[in-house]
Amino acid sequence: MKKCFGIDLGGTTVKLGLFEETGAVLEKWEIPTRTEENGKYILEDIGNALLGKMAELGLSKEEIVGAGIGIPGPVMPDGHVAFCVNLGWKNVNPGKVLSEMLGGIPVYGGNDANVAALGEQWQGGGKGHASVAAVTLGTGLGCGIIMNGKIVSGNKGMAGELGHVTVNREETEACNCGNKGCLELYSCATGIVRLAKRHLAASEEASVLRNLETITAKDVVDAAKAGDSLADGVLEESMDWLAQGLMFVSYVVDPEVFVVGGGVSRAGDFLLDKLRRHYDRFMVMAAEKPEIKLATLGNDAGIYGAARLALDL
Ligand SMILES: [Zn+2]
Repeated sequence: MKKCFGIDLGGTTVKLGLFEETGAVLEKWEIPTRTEENGKYILEDIGNALLGKMAELGLSKEEIVGAGIGIPGPVMPDGHVAFCVNLGWKNVNPGKVLSEMLGGIPVYGGNDANVAALGEQWQGGGKGHASVAAVTLGTGLGCGIIMNGKIVSGNKGMAGELGHVTVNREETEACNCGNKGCLELYSCATGIVRLAKRHLAASEEASVLRNLETITAKDVVDAAKAGDSLADGVLEESMDWLAQGLMFVSYVVDPEVFVVGGGVSRAGDFLLDKLRRHYDRFMVMAAEKPEIKLATLGNDAGIYGAARLALDL
């Protein structure tokens, strides 16, 4: 049975996994990300961690078909990383560097959001579907598009930047990107909090959210689940905007299924049912609408997707 490594490189931790080509995970561990001196030790640490694991398990390099690595920034199709702000990197090809350390084992690089989407498509919420759009609702809004089992990264790695699609041209507040009315302003954890503050300011309606000193997205979800109508209205608006974003994705690449993950998705079907209802309202042309499912791999999506990069299935 062939084996491969999946590496998910984050700003504070590197997650590593050893997989069989069937998708079974054999070993899973973490090492810290040393970002000092512009991240010059990061790849050396990862290479040593993989070599150490191979020695520990008595694996020869012939038994490892390859490795993949998800990187928190833009990655060119040849694996080149021009810059990565979180890590301090400039002009690095992490796959190439690691491959040399590992005695020629091929190592493939990809953007972390895209790689996580590939993980969900391979072994998570999108399993069994070749074309999947995976949306991550965390602090921001991430998205990765997989068509026919392959990541769609586009010309300069911009494909799938759904968080910065303009959905509301009436918006006056600017997004981090400088544009106004981006989807990310409404449909991630910070977006839900922003909407909650607006709804509270716009009316006198009673709400448990008024008693809170600081509001989190989870507070809004919990209140809505408990029957708080103002909180419910916030989530309705948030999912209405997200549904509009998914409509754009559908009419451009037509995925078989949407997979929704990230911290906000812990609200489960309570939230997804709202999203499905708004999405169906937009998709008047689709005879058979794609399913909208919950992600299942959580924080492990990145190592699964990275491992999948290394496999020629
Ligand atoms: Zn934006």
